[in-house]
Formats: sequence, structure tokens, C-alpha cells
Amino acid sequence: MTQVFIALGANLGAPLTQIHQAVVALQQLHRTRFIACSPLYGSRPMGPSDQPDYVNGVAWLDTELTPHQLLDATQQIELDLGRVRKAERWGPRTLDLDLLLFGQEQVQDERLTIPHYGMKDRAFVLVPLFDLVPDLQLPCGSALRDWVATCDRSGLFPLADSQ
Ligand code: ATP
Ligand code: CA
Ligand code: CA
Ligand code: CA
Repeated sequence: MTQVFIALGANLGAPLTQIHQAVVALQQLHRTRFIACSPLYGSRPMGPSDQPDYVNGVAWLDTELTPHQLLDATQQIELDLGRVRKAERWGPRTLDLDLLLFGQEQVQDERLTIPHYGMKDRAFVLVPLFDLVPDLQLPCGSALRDWVATCDRSGLFPLADSQ
């Protein structure tokens, strides 16, 4: 079994509902044990600013799937929950599931980059991940704690009663 962390994001439709539905779908994944979901946060959108705020969180699982099998499964959950693929980068979406970490593995091919390339700069990923595992060491050798200490949290706000 490998411990994995998945970033959850949504800003269209009813974001909180989609995040909760995504958690239910992740709880039902085969050959996988769901450990926990972080507290949820609101965040100002990256990229195009003419879109609603996001709801973000991080899910923690233990899996026997390979990284690509897990990507297939999370992309299917995105589609099941109404995501329409658009050309615009970082545009609004009903659900975004990004594979952040897959144990200590590093993956780099056309479909998958793990650790996720953007996580180091994204408070909406680092802060909920830190809520789950404050002592986490990244595969590159850095401590999550150091990244959290220097990230820009200005666009991030806790959501009350999100759990
Ligand atoms: P960003 O990746 O900057 O957060 P995004 O989430 O909006 O942007 P998507 O359109 O959801 O990007 O995904 C584009 C492609 O990224 C996917 O089709 C997938 O193959 C690829 N990808 C590469 N690495 C990962 C990863 N770690 N988790 C999820 N998708 C990944
Ligand atoms: Ca996300
Ligand atoms: Ca993303
Ligand atoms: Ca994505």
C-alpha cells in the first residue's frame, strides 16, 4: 500500500457538494483505503479572475493502484461529477482532482508529473496538506513545514463547519 494525497478543487455549480461527492467517490475506490479529508478552504482563483472562488481541500488515501490507475480513476470521478474539459488553462470547473504525492515516488511522463509541479507555490494545497500531516517530508528532501511557512496565504480563508 502506498500513501497518496489528492488535491480537491471546485468553483462551479455547488462547490461544497461536489467536493463532498468526490470524497464519497474516493471512499469507494477499489484496492484503496480512504484515510481522511483535510479541513476545507475557500480560495481566490489562480489565473483568470472572472470566475468564482474555489473550495479546496486534500484527501489522504492508502492504495494498491499504480499512479496511472489512480489518475484514470480520478479523471473518471471528475467526468462523473460533471467536468467539461475546456481549452482555457485554470478556467472554472465543477471538480479538479490533482495527484500531489504518491509515496516517495517520482513520476514524469506525458500524462503525469508527481509530485504535482504546482504544489510548492499553492497555499490552497500546502495548507490543507499540512493540516493532515504537519511533519511530512517531500520526496525532494524538503519539509512541508518550510514550504508552508513561506507560501502566500493571502487568498486563502478557512470555511467554517466544512467537515
Ligand atoms: P494544474 O495542473 O496547473 O493544476 P489543471 O489542474 O487545471 O492545472 P487539468 O486540465 O486538470 O489541469 O489537467 C491537465 C492534465 O494534467 C491532465 O490531463 C493530466 O494528464 C495531467 N497531469 C499531469 N500531472 C498530473 C497530476 N499529478 N495530477 C493530475 N493530472 C496531472
Ligand atoms: Ca485543485
Ligand atoms: Ca489543478
Ligand atoms: Ca487537474
